[in-house]
Amino acid sequence: MLGLMMQRKLLISEIIDHAARYHSDTEIVSVNTTGGEHRTNYREVRERALRMASALAGRGLEKSERIGTLAWNNYRHLELYYAISGQGLVCHTLNPRLFPEQLVYIINHAEDRVLFFDQTFLPLVAAIRDKLNTVASFVLMEPQSEEIASEHPWVEFYEDLIEQGNSGHAWPDDIDELDASSLCYTSGTTGNPKGVLYSHRSTLIHAMMSATPDVMNFSARDCLLPVVPMFHVNAWGTPYAAPLVGAKLAMPGPGLDGPSLVRLFNQEKVTISAGVPTIWAGLLAELEKTGEKLPYLQRTVVGGSACPPSMIAKFRDLYDVEVLHAWGMTELSPLGSVNNLKNKHLEADEATLKRLRENQGRPPFGIELGVFDDDDNRLPEDGETSGNLYARGIWVMSEYFRNEGGEVLHNGWFPTGDVATIDAEGYMTIRDRSKDIIKSGGEWISTVDLENLAVSHPDVAEAAVIAAHHSKWDERPLLIVVPREGVEIDEKKLLAFYEDKVAKWWIPDAVKIVDSIPKGATGKILKTSLREKYAGLLMDN
Ligand code: ADP
Repeated sequence: MLGLMMQRKLLISEIIDHAARYHSDTEIVSVNTTGGEHRTNYREVRERALRMASALAGRGLEKSERIGTLAWNNYRHLELYYAISGQGLVCHTLNPRLFPEQLVYIINHAEDRVLFFDQTFLPLVAAIRDKLNTVASFVLMEPQSEEIASEHPWVEFYEDLIEQGNSGHAWPDDIDELDASSLCYTSGTTGNPKGVLYSHRSTLIHAMMSATPDVMNFSARDCLLPVVPMFHVNAWGTPYAAPLVGAKLAMPGPGLDGPSLVRLFNQEKVTISAGVPTIWAGLLAELEKTGEKLPYLQRTVVGGSACPPSMIAKFRDLYDVEVLHAWGMTELSPLGSVNNLKNKHLEADEATLKRLRENQGRPPFGIELGVFDDDDNRLPEDGETSGNLYARGIWVMSEYFRNEGGEVLHNGWFPTGDVATIDAEGYMTIRDRSKDIIKSGGEWISTVDLENLAVSHPDVAEAAVIAAHHSKWDERPLLIVVPREGVEIDEKKLLAFYEDKVAKWWIPDAVKIVDSIPKGATGKILKTSLREKYAGLLMDN
């Protein structure tokens, strides 16, 4: 017997329809690419998204064709998220920090038909456009400019498309909730980038769950500032979750430096934010320098790479901001786990609570995590046994776009490439990425733990630990550090800092002092390039 309830499809267009109906005047503030700020609201975003959808429909695009975006976090990018997916097309967000050749590969692989881009990326698009085999229209996300039109006659203008669009357009009704809605390529530290193709259904359920109190806790009383870019796993789903609950949005555009962020946080009374640790390190340094505070910010989601415990403590003790340490990946839309306490923890003493808050947290409803050995046998969840972290759930990928890499699942589980422990309560701790972990004489050493300790040292601005080749132990940890401005680091004293904090054999063999540490397109430390440079250092000595 079937239940007798209405059947409504879980479509992305439903989110913006709801926001326009019930949160019509809730603001979206964005920093413009060309300077200044723009204010709009959910009613206008929907109206303009529908106009843009009708302009796209007028170009004879077929359902599920891919439309590329190369853009910052701003209101036009938000409109495109809804216009493209709402029209049954696939919103393909591109990371402008990739090498031009990688972008060419990705755009051709996805067969993007239209490319929308912010003015910042005009030179980039001009340089690669001849190599893009499928793109028929290049749309600059600005009003018409005679100067640009005369220099680049191939450019169309976003506001012209909006004007051409029909204000009476309606979302097409032949879209299924299982249809593809958006596409995001993983940065591909090894091999070519691979596409992850999300559906309307997976995106909606991910957004609904991410807003719940024990996950990211978004509400209509919040002002959300996504620092994480809309080209990095859909800004962790925040452009869907914010209108879904009616939260105000503050979009930083290209202003991701410390001073710009602090200004926007305080001017717009931002209550919740989300971003990778490197961004927060810059922001905290700025606050320390100027003595400014964040009087409105209540919580911030930190993930993408391990959040050092010293950062969690600083946010809490100096700025009264709660860090929600989260783990995820492109293949998981990205949310896999978030650290929030349970009722039974509330009685615990401060030291215990501090320790409990440091790990990557537990999975929300919709995701299951497990640790496995190399033969896919499930390992105990005792908080001690390290294993390969696998995930399965409602918003976990089943295969890559165009079946790149073939069958990726192991008995229905997605192998994440991370090494972790899980405790009896479901709290997960990332020990390392499997390709970064150090195997010293057959035993594992976690580079994450060693890095977390290094950055808690007052003289260290940034740190990375890599496996260096060793004649006796195969691999030994090498600590690479960037000193704080104006500080000279004493190698012996820095290594002595590890004593009593980790097992003796975990202490790095040497310290390499550098001016900067290379980062990839999503702001994460590029360990591959560090290994290429320094893995032989201990052998040379
Ligand atoms: P890539 O970095 O390859 O582009 P993603 O952006 O999808 O891919 O990143 C996913 C990876 O980032 C995870 O597999 C994990 O190694 C790392 N990661 C994400 N969040 C955390 C975290 N909180 N702690 C440690 N590692 C994390």
